[in-house]
Amino acid sequence: MNDMILLKQGEIVLKGLNKRSFEQKLLSNIRKRLNGLGNFDVYSVQSTVYVEPQDDGADVDEAFERLRKVFGVVALSRAAACEKDKDAIVACAKGYLAEQMRGARSFKVETKRSDKAFPMTSIQVSQYVGGELSEAFPDVEVDVHEPELTVHVEIRDYAAYVHAQPTPGAGGMPVGSNGRAVTLLSGGIDSPVSTYMIAKRGVKLIPVHFFSFPYTSELAKQKVLDLATLLTAYCGDMKVEIVPFTHIQEEIRAKCPEEYFTLVMRRFMMRIAARIAYRNGCKAIVTGENLGQVASQTMEAMACTQAVTDLPVLQPLIGMDKEEIVTVARRIGTFDTSILPYEDCCTVFTPRHPKTKPSVAELVEIEKALDVEGLVNEAVAGTERVRVSCFE
Ligand code: ATP
Ligand code: MG
Repeated sequence: MNDMILLKQGEIVLKGLNKRSFEQKLLSNIRKRLNGLGNFDVYSVQSTVYVEPQDDGADVDEAFERLRKVFGVVALSRAAACEKDKDAIVACAKGYLAEQMRGARSFKVETKRSDKAFPMTSIQVSQYVGGELSEAFPDVEVDVHEPELTVHVEIRDYAAYVHAQPTPGAGGMPVGSNGRAVTLLSGGIDSPVSTYMIAKRGVKLIPVHFFSFPYTSELAKQKVLDLATLLTAYCGDMKVEIVPFTHIQEEIRAKCPEEYFTLVMRRFMMRIAARIAYRNGCKAIVTGENLGQVASQTMEAMACTQAVTDLPVLQPLIGMDKEEIVTVARRIGTFDTSILPYEDCCTVFTPRHPKTKPSVAELVEIEKALDVEGLVNEAVAGTERVRVSCFE
């Protein structure tokens, strides 16, 4: 007999008419995460998703770990399984919830019974189990109105289950329920966090990385693929688009004034990202930009960067402090990889004195020296696609 996992749906319960499709997205995301972990039945009843193992071969420990990272879930409980017998249920509750019972001042028992053939009603089960627990833990009062701890008993087809205090879930909305976007992914600390944050809002993401071989090495590219793989624990499987950027950077270095290098380069990134977005039905471009962090992240510089596309540019980190970003990076497990010392194409031809207050007109003038359309076409045509998943 195997434990069961219960997931409480988050914001999707507010969605009225769309609720059904949001819920279907969540169920399908959950099923994909459980791939390879054995036989589970996954279904939802009244805003709770049940993940019920179908045999003893199912890996519930790993399933629980994976499901903690699924967006659209606010809380998870692991429910201990036992025989469908009143005393087996009491014994299970005494053992499984001992620590939680000792830590609480008051409790009550709530029973749900989907197996209507069970010989006691829900209320009878609650009273019986409550009475036995009260005897076993005499310091904890019964309080049916405002208990500190609610002990849940569920009597289902396969077994009976006992659970109490849930663990917080990943929050957010199911990935895919809010459309698609491309996300500019460098090897730094910021862009994995911005990717995570927009995925959390239910957006399916396609990471785009600009790669300047041999100025940046194969190791730098692998680092970005590693980061994308780590992110799939939250975002689901992804296809990373690796864009060859060397020719563009060499052209910029040869033909543009040094103080504008970064800006011209970033405008190319946006144009190419927009092309990839249109090709994949994506409705926005996500970046890890952060106001005032570097010269290319002043308001004037960002206006120049964004002027080349009609798509909304989502910058979820815009108002965060570096420390706050680092805290998220550590929590989601990308930080240690981000700080590995490989170069990024942004650091290859960095101007000594970058322009911090540029105008779009200046950039349009400077770019006349370049075959912008030809360079964009060439980069898009040379793009390599790599599928990443942390579940394989
Ligand atoms: P990060 O830590 O994410 O690299 P950063 O603070 O170093 O960010 P920049 O290097 O100016 O800032 O880049 C700003 C944003 O542009 C990044 O957050 C990322 O979204 C995008 N970006 C930068 N370099 C690349 C790259 N080589 N490929 C794809 N996107 C990039
Ligand atoms: Mg960077």
